[in-house]
Amino acid sequence: MTDKTFKSLADLYNTMDKTWNKVAAGYHFKCNGCEDNCCKSLFFHHTYIEKAYLLHGFNQLDHNKKEKILGRATNYCKKTFPQNSEIKTLKIYCPVNKNGHCLLYLYRPMICRLHGLPHELSKPGCEPVKGPGCNAGLFYDKAYIKFDRTPFYQQMAQIEMMFRQDLNKIGKIKETVAQMLISQ
Ligand code: SF4
Repeated sequence: MTDKTFKSLADLYNTMDKTWNKVAAGYHFKCNGCEDNCCKSLFFHHTYIEKAYLLHGFNQLDHNKKEKILGRATNYCKKTFPQNSEIKTLKIYCPVNKNGHCLLYLYRPMICRLHGLPHELSKPGCEPVKGPGCNAGLFYDKAYIKFDRTPFYQQMAQIEMMFRQDLNKIGKIKETVAQMLISQ
């Protein structure tokens, strides 16, 4: 059953990527990396299915790469979540990023895929909430091209529900990629 759920997730990721690329092309925007790199953002992820898929990708890497990533992940967590202290947003690279490249690109979570472009998100009964997009795109100077994250979030919730039912998972999850890797 996990294979089927992974396939549903991979299909959803594929749709997200295609939509993102289409909207980005509309702005003539290309992400070439920048000082304010989104891989240095403190992103939390909230689904068990995305964690399982990321770890599935991680487990296909060779031993050496895995050890290096785990070392960086441990370091990341020590700096970002110091014991008896507040979370620190330090703008340090995600442990999976190596020289500007994501080593788990095919398996990266949803927020890594959707980041960057101006977007909107609708909750039932509320006005859509809009997000501005990253600084590199200079989007404030351009007419908004509709990029609605809502259907992606809805489909992700359905896939997560299937996965939780299959594996009897309960409770909330809120983890960075680094935490996902060292808590496996
Ligand atoms: S998982 Fe990949 S894309 Fe996402 S923050 Fe880490 S390095 Fe960047």
